[in-house]
Amino acid sequence: MSSRISILGSTGSIGRQSLDVIAACGMQVAALTANSSVELVERQARQFNPELVAMMDEQAAADLRVRLADTQIRVAGGMEGLIEAATLPSADTVITAVVGMVGLKPTLAAIREGKRIALANKETLVCAGELVMAAAQEYGAEIVPVDSEHSALFQSMQGCRDRGEVKRLILTASGGPFFGWKREDLEGVTLEKALKHPNWSMGAKITVDSATLMNKGLEFIEAMHLYHMPPEKISIVVHRESIVHSLVEYCDNAVIAQLGSPDMRIPIQYALTWPSRIPGPADPLDLLTCGPLTFAQPDLESFPCLPMALNAARIGGTAGAILNGANEAAVGLFLKEKIGFMDIPRRVARAMEKVAPIQSPTLEDVLQADREARRAALTE
Ligand code: NAD
Ligand code: MG
Repeated sequence: MSSRISILGSTGSIGRQSLDVIAACGMQVAALTANSSVELVERQARQFNPELVAMMDEQAAADLRVRLADTQIRVAGGMEGLIEAATLPSADTVITAVVGMVGLKPTLAAIREGKRIALANKETLVCAGELVMAAAQEYGAEIVPVDSEHSALFQSMQGCRDRGEVKRLILTASGGPFFGWKREDLEGVTLEKALKHPNWSMGAKITVDSATLMNKGLEFIEAMHLYHMPPEKISIVVHRESIVHSLVEYCDNAVIAQLGSPDMRIPIQYALTWPSRIPGPADPLDLLTCGPLTFAQPDLESFPCLPMALNAARIGGTAGAILNGANEAAVGLFLKEKIGFMDIPRRVARAMEKVAPIQSPTLEDVLQADREARRAALTE
């Protein structure tokens, strides 16, 4: 069980909910990091008294240093600061809750120190799953998923002594705010509508990914790497209610699922307490009021991001980094209202066409694929 925790991305949706869990469960904070939200991180630092706070933005780091001058808390800046937070000797666990592939280097650094990784930052595995999983194996670092679907799979495999007995992983998908919509209707989707998720309150980037169904595609690749499963052994089913968080089908056709209220504090807490369980702050599930549970096929025709991601999963190598880099760039443009909703899959498709994937990549190959994909997606 974790006792001293560093949080990369403490001001975000996962970061804030992680601090809820840490406070409720009486754990300690070793380090906090954020991009630029100085006021919130200052409040968090005063409440949790970490050893170190790192701001990605150097100006924000300078500002925070002045604000925290009356405390013992050290302030660092930039990627070096993030890496220092990820590798702090006094921390046993690192929650990776930054958004995007910027999380890759600090995650690898934490793995090399043998920390437990409570992994929320799925882009890291999508871009460099092979490298990250191999490093975890080499340095004996446990990677415990925070993503609700992957936590559900992890929980549903706790009694499994032989992974060969697993026939299929079944990822559930909420379907997002535009479930049932057709391509023509999706062309007119505004930013405001895309940012309204029916079941979960999350950061802006993942909320848009949930609306395009790219999120489920990223999660498909994440599951392949986390559980060493080939793509043909993973399927996706739309489950609008987000109560069944994912399922594992075994070779005897028994299916084990994890259910719960749609509250990220459950998977966050499990990533910190595994293999134990302790009482926590999340809401209980009431089966009598959560309504009927429904299941449907995902619509691959209307939501082209999902089949593109499945294709990248099958290609392997740097295809995941190309898909992810293009998607991060395109979603960034959509969040600034520079492009339309359906331009996201168009820009990703363009990058997938332009940038050739390579197999068994090095870290430099992954970073290069990411840069080229962003450039292709950003070009008019
Ligand atoms: P968010 O946007 O709410 O928070 C992101 C955090 O990362 C913030 O603390 C921000 O300061 C920091 N950050 C942003 N850009 C940065 C940069 N360039 N350098 C350093 N730090 C930076 O995002 P979120 O919804 O909390 O998601 C975080 C990660 O967790 C994502 O990878 C997401 O896919 C994953 N995830 C989120 C949820 C959820 O419910 N929110 C569920 C499953 C997985
Ligand atoms: Mg998820």
